[in-house]
Order: sequence, then structure tokens, then C-alpha cells
Amino acid sequence: MHRPLPQNVIIKSATISQTPTGKYYIAIVVQYEVQIKPITPTVETTIGLDYSSKALFVDSKTNSPDYPKYYRQAEARLKREPRKLSKRHQLSRQIANAYDGVAIENLNMRGMAQGLNLAKSTNDNGFGMLKTFLAYKLADQGKQLVIIDKWYPSSKLCHICKHENKELTLADRNWTCPHCGTELDRDVNAAINIKNEGCRILGIA
Ligand SMILES: [Zn+2]
Repeated sequence: MHRPLPQNVIIKSATISQTPTGKYYIAIVVQYEVQIKPITPTVETTIGLDYSSKALFVDSKTNSPDYPKYYRQAEARLKREPRKLSKRHQLSRQIANAYDGVAIENLNMRGMAQGLNLAKSTNDNGFGMLKTFLAYKLADQGKQLVIIDKWYPSSKLCHICKHENKELTLADRNWTCPHCGTELDRDVNAAINIKNEGCRILGIA
């Protein structure tokens, strides 16, 4: 048994299987009740994630999973596991533990890849997976995942003055707000807007 069963469980079913090498496994489905205390996020404990085809995402604190700090300790242990999937599990666990609220865009990945004529990145599926993992890991802890409408102009709004730059194209990785003059990194700016919109929806802005 790889982990102890909680108290008062009802065993619903058991499935016995044998591997080609002759090992036997029993998978047991159990049912039990848990009390989850809801946690109210604050602006400080909420983070926004902006999808990135290169780096999976960039968050509202300018971090990205491409940067080594997310993985430094996890790396060694992950060597023998299917890398990408376990990285996403690891990432969603770290985010769900570190924050009480996570705001994320509701992107239509297939539509995006075709409509904007981008080469389909493996991160397209990865982001959807990350969202799924985050949803249940946050819910398990009584925390909040806020899905931002896909029409919300997260990339085009200047997060400082809220001016909407309708001229912004996909090629613009950095831009200067024509209204207030702020120099903006496209992904970080979008992640901050996603966070702010998430806080507004949560009623904590
Ligand atoms: Zn501005």
C-alpha cells in the first residue's frame, strides 16, 4: 500500500491486474467525506498566469517555468519520470501551495494556433493540462481558480493606466504605452492584467 487510507472510508471496488513481468497490482476505489475550509484570497496571495507558447506561461511576478528556480530541487527526482507531465504536476503543486487565488485565461488553444498561424507548440496542450491540475489542487485546499474570459484584452491593456493599445500585434514582444509612456514586456503586462481582472472578479481588487 503506497499510502494509508483515511478513516471511515467505504471501499467501492477493487481491480486486480497482472503486468507482463508477472507483478500483481490491486487498485482500490474508496469513498469518504472531507471538510474543506474555503480560503479567501487577497491581492498579495493571488497570481496571474499568461500563456506563452515558448515558456508555457509567464506569471504576474515575472517568473516563468523556463527559469531554473521553479525546478532546482525537483529536477533530480524527475529524471526517470515522463518529464513534461511530471513537471506540470510539480508546477501546479507549487503554485497551488504558494497562492490562494490563481487567475488564468480561458484560451481556445486549437483556435489560437490556427487563427494566428502559429506553429502548434507542445505547450498548447501543456497549458490546458496545467489548468486542469491547478483546478483540482486548488479546490482540494479550498482555494480559488479564476478563469478570465478569452475576449478580455489582457495583452493590449497597459496595466499602469488601462489604456488599450489596439495597434499591438503578435510580433510586439515589448511596447511603450502611447498614453503614459510605460515600457511594457508583453507577457508580464498580460499576466498582471490577468491577475488584476481575477482580483476584480473575486471582489478583492
Ligand atoms: Zn499606460
